[in-house]
Amino acid sequence: VPIEILEEMNKIQETFQGLDQKYRLIDKIGEGTFSTVYKAEALMDDANYLIGEKIYSSPEIKRRKKAKTKPKIYVALKRIYVTSSPQRIFNELNLLYMLSGSKRVAPLLEALRFQDQIIAVLPYYHHADFREFFRDLPIQGIKHYMYELFQSLKFVHSKRIIHRDIKPTNFLYDPFTKRGVLVDFGLAEQESISIVYDKAQAGYCPCIHPSNKIITKHEDPLKGYPKNDDRPGRRANRAGTRGFRAPEVLFKCPYQRVDIDVWSAGVILLTLLSRRFPFFNSRDDTDALVELTSIFGLKELQEAALIHGLGLDTNLMTLTNVKKHSLGGLIHSAIKVEDEKNTLPKDSVAYDTLKAMNERGEIKHKPQDDHEIYILKKAHIEAFEVMSHCFKLNPEERSSANQILKLPFFDDFNQ
Ligand code: ADP
Ligand code: MG
Repeated sequence: VPIEILEEMNKIQETFQGLDQKYRLIDKIGEGTFSTVYKAEALMDDANYLIGEKIYSSPEIKRRKKAKTKPKIYVALKRIYVTSSPQRIFNELNLLYMLSGSKRVAPLLEALRFQDQIIAVLPYYHHADFREFFRDLPIQGIKHYMYELFQSLKFVHSKRIIHRDIKPTNFLYDPFTKRGVLVDFGLAEQESISIVYDKAQAGYCPCIHPSNKIITKHEDPLKGYPKNDDRPGRRANRAGTRGFRAPEVLFKCPYQRVDIDVWSAGVILLTLLSRRFPFFNSRDDTDALVELTSIFGLKELQEAALIHGLGLDTNLMTLTNVKKHSLGGLIHSAIKVEDEKNTLPKDSVAYDTLKAMNERGEIKHKPQDDHEIYILKKAHIEAFEVMSHCFKLNPEERSSANQILKLPFFDDFNQ
């Protein structure tokens, strides 16, 4: 551990009254905009209360039962910066508290306060850095990862809680135990129950007030942005991470629902299948709309904007010429062509899986003839099906985490 971090941890141990009787800081494991996270050892004699079936996965419990000496209990201490408003801190702690009871969501063990400082105590989860495995995870591994992620979303969404920041660093996954745990409810919010759907016009989001006129005619995009724009401004929660925002977030729809997390999960799946991280790399929301348009098509994005009463135009020729295609179809046909030509790129999902099967002696014939290649292709087709459910531009049409878990891609777990 670098000296600066040791000094930083020492300072916390010394200044945060009562902390050093309970926990010993070991290392800094994360640093974000709103918090710093440390790995720590629980020192209390009764630290065993921190362990429970709900908290630690069963391999961990077995390991502890087998151990002859009293095993150490590790926790993650999330120190929330004093610059966060009390309301914000309360929101995160309260949601964590509401979400205890699932092994796929990190539960709040306790919260410590000294003066204006707050520390949330969570079980420590061993996990791998996403950057270390997203290139190599075979399709079966992708299946496990996504299954864990959708299970955690199913639980969170059953409480009508929107996580709002689904991305790899907030989902702690261990590729060896194949366990995943969702963390970081710093931006999460309860889905607003005041949405009045019956007021909405059929096919439109309730964010269009019935008295608002719906834009049907597109302005000439070459004229540029209107000088005296008399349309009312739009305000909506846009919290989240660029590249993972659902279209309705980009369109500033104030009636966002749990579906925005399903979109972000789709972006993670796309990242894993394409072996590109980050897949979307926009600097701002306009850039993000350009990225989505170049993949899903201008007409499709315009229709999606209209659902929220918005018009969408561009003078980028590269976007006006985009033809409609399915993202899954695109990746799949690329892999298929390579597979047929026997020139699969060495970093593709298909190549990894083929190689692994070969090494295990599971491929007896030329790959193209083998039944297992069929299975491999089948898994890919099923993964693209999952992706297409996540990437519905209209949130009304997007499947829930629960529905997605019932798709054929996850059949292995559902039997
Ligand atoms: P932030 O709001 O600053 O993003 P997070 O809750 O996402 O805070 O935590 C930041 C990082 O700390 C995570 O990406 C992860 O690497 C690590 N971390 C957080 N909670 C745990 C935990 N319970 N066990 C292990 N590592 C954790
Ligand atoms: Mg985070």
